[in-house]
Amino acid sequence: MEQVDVVVVGAGAMGATAAWRLARSGRSVVLLERFGPGHTHGSSHGTTRIFRLAYRDPVYVRFAAQALDGWRELEAASGEVLLEQVGQLDHGRAAAVDEVVANLRAADRPVERLGAAEASERWPGMRFDGAVAFSPDGGRCLADRTVATSQRLAGSAGAAVHFDEPAERIEVVGDRAVVHSAGRSWDAAAVVVAAGAWVSSLLGQLVSLPPITIESDQPSHFAPIDASASWPSFLHHGLGADGVDRPLSFDAYGLWTPGEGVKVGGHGTVAVCDPEDLTRVPDPVRTESLVRYVEEWLPGLDPTPRSTVSCLFTSTDDEHFILDRRGPLVVCSPCSGHGFKFVPAIAAEVERLVTHGGQPVTEWRLPN
Ligand SMILES: Cc1cc2nc3c(=O)[nH]c(=O)nc-3n(C[C@H](O)[C@H](O)[C@H](O)COP(=O)(O)OP(=O)(O)OC[C@H]3O[C@@H](n4cnc5c(N)ncnc54)[C@H](O)[C@@H]3O)c2cc1C
Repeated sequence: MEQVDVVVVGAGAMGATAAWRLARSGRSVVLLERFGPGHTHGSSHGTTRIFRLAYRDPVYVRFAAQALDGWRELEAASGEVLLEQVGQLDHGRAAAVDEVVANLRAADRPVERLGAAEASERWPGMRFDGAVAFSPDGGRCLADRTVATSQRLAGSAGAAVHFDEPAERIEVVGDRAVVHSAGRSWDAAAVVVAAGAWVSSLLGQLVSLPPITIESDQPSHFAPIDASASWPSFLHHGLGADGVDRPLSFDAYGLWTPGEGVKVGGHGTVAVCDPEDLTRVPDPVRTESLVRYVEEWLPGLDPTPRSTVSCLFTSTDDEHFILDRRGPLVVCSPCSGHGFKFVPAIAAEVERLVTHGGQPVTEWRLPN
């Protein structure tokens, strides 16, 4: 059995970037990925994800600011463009938008508060509801490119990257952990589990996890009617179907996705699913709900979807991340549908937990 400093399970955005950070600091690192490079079975695939500092919860405003520095570091290390700051619009319930504005101002970040009519003049492709805030720091992360870049950087920094090699079992032995794949085993001082929707099946017997819901989202891409129109990323704040206000939730989201059109999702496009059974066939009921949303709120788009993608969300009940350590195990499950923008900051947090143990951020602790 090979002895290493760290095994990272899962080479999605979180695991691959954490493996890079851990390997470049001189540790011996093994990165195990169940599927092949560029697979579409998890949560990180697709061309783009929204980047924003605009959050109703100040914890995430601070963390996104840390991530911004981390994105620039990742870009400098790789020579790739991974983040495009084209701006972010939040609109909808005034109470929600006001929290976003107050948090950005408190963090000394630029933000404009506009009325709906003024915003419609500036972004005629969108219809606005209630209050509007524009944050120029927001934009989009180039998701597929980030995953491939981090996997490449991890290998260049010395990590042994094994695709098509699932971790089948993890055992805790004293203060170390042993990871078994089908053909071999590694004995490690720390094991980072960044397995996305599969976190419970790997860790459920070893660590007490909070309740986790796995859903698929099915956003679609729509063509702009005016090809010269500008499309910042956007969130529409409404109450959920149950009328409950959840500070980390929103009714719909969208962003320009180079080569594919404006990606729109969230409005009735999410359904509970089994991660082993993520269907690639769009559910027509969910697509129809999205088309109705586009007709009502996005008059600058042709409402016939050009393409639809499927992707897994792994959420805790309060939509906070899980980022904590128990003995040699570091649980890195920061999904809850909004994790991508934080990738470099989450990788840094994983490195901190591997190095010092230390206290995790309160909101992200495992239950005792
Ligand atoms: C449709 C959609 C839209 C989103 N939009 C945004 C957005 O706009 N902005 C934003 O910030 N976030 C967004 N998110 C959330 C973000 O994409 C996720 O938080 C992030 O990609 C999660 O990355 P991950 O590495 O934790 O998970 P994953 O990418 O799923 O990676 C986990 C990896 O572990 C591997 N694995 C599992 N089990 C094993 C095993 N036993 N052995 C080895 N490997 C294993 C899997 O194959 C997978 O590659 C969105 C998510 C979805 C689904």
